Amino acid sequence: MNDTPARKPMRCAHDGAKLNHHATLIRDPLNREEADSVDPVADGVLIEVHACPKCGRGHPRTTGAST
Ligand SMILES: [Zn+2]
Repeated sequence: MNDTPARKPMRCAHDGAKLNHHATLIRDPLNREEADSVDPVADGVLIEVHACPKCGRGHPRTTGAST
């Protein structure tokens, strides 16, 4: 494997399958921490939604989060 993704892939909390990046959403920040990661172009917090190919569950994650 020669690919070096910039971000660690998320894994499903239920079955451990590697999640696919499904969509990116924009919403208002809910707290101070999120307000710091507001995208100035989108004027909101970018939320990545990752979908599990195995069980179909969606797992949202803020793009600014390190986890
Ligand atoms: Zn799953």
